[in-house]
Amino acid sequence: MPDEIDRDHISQKMLLRNYERHKSNYREYLTEIQEVHDKKTTEAAWNFFEFPDEFYEEDMVIWIDPLDGTRGFVEGHLNHVTSMIGLAIDKRPRAGIIHKPFYDQPIHMQRTYFGTPECGVFVKDRFPQTLKRLRRVSVMTPFDSDAGVDPDDYKLWICGAMNMNQNKMDELFNAVDPVSVGRVAGAGNKIVQMLDQKYDYYCNFVPGFKYWDMCASEALIEAKMGICVDAAGKPLVYDEERKDYTVKEGIIIAKNMKVYNLVRDRCENVLGKSLHEFYTEVNELQSKRLAAEKKL
Ligand SMILES: [Mg+2]
Repeated sequence: MPDEIDRDHISQKMLLRNYERHKSNYREYLTEIQEVHDKKTTEAAWNFFEFPDEFYEEDMVIWIDPLDGTRGFVEGHLNHVTSMIGLAIDKRPRAGIIHKPFYDQPIHMQRTYFGTPECGVFVKDRFPQTLKRLRRVSVMTPFDSDAGVDPDDYKLWICGAMNMNQNKMDELFNAVDPVSVGRVAGAGNKIVQMLDQKYDYYCNFVPGFKYWDMCASEALIEAKMGICVDAAGKPLVYDEERKDYTVKEGIIIAKNMKVYNLVRDRCENVLGKSLHEFYTEVNELQSKRLAAEKKL
């Protein structure tokens, strides 16, 4: 509802203040991320992550998912629903907005998450008039680095999906040995649960997510200094020149390096294969299943 947008709720002062606060940790975070991507710290790599001071409009793409969690919406599970707007420049996410119109259904509360990797994530809640609550914007703190936690004792919470490859995915989850695996529906909704720190890790190894599901999502995960890569540990690329806007290389989201490494290591130690090898197996299984369905 464009008329209802509260135009002055994002002030430049607020963004700059948080940018200053965020800056030095964000640089450290970028160094970590580049290790995940394969230890290439070049000038080009920095440019790859930093919001450009200037850019051409034709290098900018806005990925919109007006109604994510459609199945939940149709079935009446309104809490699965999100609306997402992601801004990509040169095929990388630079800003994101995820709105959850039914954040807390009993009190009709809505919540909007917005931010950029450089400035962090902000949250704005919206209550019905009758509740007379202030509509304030608050800053979300970055994910905890869990620096002091022994990986062997880590109480890991995994955000799972409700998909067809459950048996295969359970192989991985058993190997990783989490305290809990949640079954969360809706792409944007999973990201919201991660931002709210209800889960530490999420992975998806079958094609399903589209660029409009991930662009805002990745921008916000990175704004909280979390890790978002494909199954090979490479950054996702939002290439509008591709014919198909599906993310096919897998998605891994971890709240920090500790969690990212822990899942990778447990997978290798217990299953004797890398996460990327596991991703390949899941993918082959899925293609076979789809081919069999087609024949029927
Ligand atoms: Mg969607």
